[in-house]
Amino acid sequence: MKALIVDDAKVVRVALSRMMNQLGYETVKAEDGQQALDAMAEHPDTDVVMLDWNMPVMNGYDFLVAMRDMPEHATNPKVIMVTTETGMPQMLKALAGGADEYIMKPFDKDMVEGKLEMVGLEVAG
Ligand SMILES: [Mg+2]
Repeated sequence: MKALIVDDAKVVRVALSRMMNQLGYETVKAEDGQQALDAMAEHPDTDVVMLDWNMPVMNGYDFLVAMRDMPEHATNPKVIMVTTETGMPQMLKALAGGADEYIMKPFDKDMVEGKLEMVGLEVAG
């Protein structure tokens, strides 16, 4: 199983990557939405995207909409927003844009595991 981790903060990328590894996922990392689009082209077999909202160059929402516009990614991968943008309008906007679930920062491994299971993904251990 493969996860794409998208966040402009290195500390978040490292922490999420470690958690996802422990949950049985190979991880690919991107620092902004544009890098994430490039990563999806390189790794079309990605099962889940863990997606920050606020990033330079291209934010997470714009990445989400651009990716879901591609027929091959209209429903796959699953997308879990991992963000401080936790107001109801933002959540509804992200879900309408094609996100599957939402994690509020700060997060821990149990929260990540729970959300993966909620969207129907496998977790190791
Ligand atoms: Mg950010």
